Amino acid sequence: LEREEPTHFGAGPAQLPTEVLQQAAKDLLNYNNLGLGIGEISHRSKDATQIIESSKQNLKELMNIPDTHEVFFMQGGGTTGFSSLATNLAAAYVGKTGQIANAGYLVTGSWSLKSFQEAKRLHVPCEIIFNSKDFNDEGKFVDIPDESLWEDRVKGKKFSYVYLCENETVHGIEWNQLPKCIVDDPNIELVADLSSDILSRKIDVSKYGVIMAGAQKNIGLAGLTLYIIKKSILTNIEKVDDTLLHEFDIPVTPIAFDYPTVVKNNSAYNTIPIFTLHVMNLVFEHLIKKGGVEAQEKENDAKAKILYDILDAYPNFYNLPVKPNARSRMNVVFTLKKEGLDEKFLKDAAERKLTGLKGHRSVGGFRASIYNALTLASVEKLVQFIKDFAVENQ
Ligand code: PLP
Repeated sequence: LEREEPTHFGAGPAQLPTEVLQQAAKDLLNYNNLGLGIGEISHRSKDATQIIESSKQNLKELMNIPDTHEVFFMQGGGTTGFSSLATNLAAAYVGKTGQIANAGYLVTGSWSLKSFQEAKRLHVPCEIIFNSKDFNDEGKFVDIPDESLWEDRVKGKKFSYVYLCENETVHGIEWNQLPKCIVDDPNIELVADLSSDILSRKIDVSKYGVIMAGAQKNIGLAGLTLYIIKKSILTNIEKVDDTLLHEFDIPVTPIAFDYPTVVKNNSAYNTIPIFTLHVMNLVFEHLIKKGGVEAQEKENDAKAKILYDILDAYPNFYNLPVKPNARSRMNVVFTLKKEGLDEKFLKDAAERKLTGLKGHRSVGGFRASIYNALTLASVEKLVQFIKDFAVENQ
């Protein structure tokens, strides 16, 4: 079971560490010498329970998760995450206050926008606090507006929760620090989508009400979502009588996505994809062995730096639409200034086995996704190509 180290820069599903996949391949066939694969046993068996417990423990260690927070896993992906967050968190607010309030969305790209649209579609009371498109002349998702420009829309107001997407995968925009006016307000629960940057850098979990992340970028295969939630939010959801939600015209969460139900059943209320969770746990173990999030962050910073540096070195040839302070360390978006060269760029890159570079259809150009498992050596190959391509074609 061998392969050459991939140099695939696709936005996801992303590559995983080769040794993780080698182990997973063996365990898919015969786990722990059971004579059965890990996907062929009950999700309530001793072995499955051990995987759930071990995954929780490893994640707690990696992210230094305080006792105030609970970890759980649920079927689905990022979309299941933001849909279920809306109904669970609206219920939590009703449970806590006996009232309703709007959820506030900080819109910085297509994923936070979709999350807002979904909350609205579900009839969860919500509003956009700001849409970053309104803060630049281009009317595009290219930066994150300074807090001083929008904090008045938050101060003194009640929100059931405030939502942001920490890394906008499509537009290559990342929150490089959390907004102070949100995290410093004890009455606001910060809810964040970390689908495309979880475990890529150190964060302070205590500042979040809920973190959710689909697995298929930094931590595993599609099909599973990870949640880290403040225990008090779970208690508040449990307090709610469904009739009160009906009265407020807020949807009741489907049972498989009801957070307290999932937590009470140790992430196995219904059939959890245990192979997928096992792969995630192998990724966690791999990261712990590698030196944890701190080591990964250093590597990620180095990868992002050489890539942005080379693109910045040819300002007449490459265009970087995202403002420097909002540049993502995971998804590097760029375009060519010269017209008619896009196809050639992709073709020449593919000749060097550099693939997955086409930008999202809504943005165009190129996007190099450099998630945790992509090595510095692979990024160095891309950097060399970007340089050569500019020199040969400018
Ligand atoms: N959130 C972010 C930041 C994403 O990048 C994605 C997918 O790329 C999603 C949510 C949606 O994830 P899924 O396709 O697993 O529903």
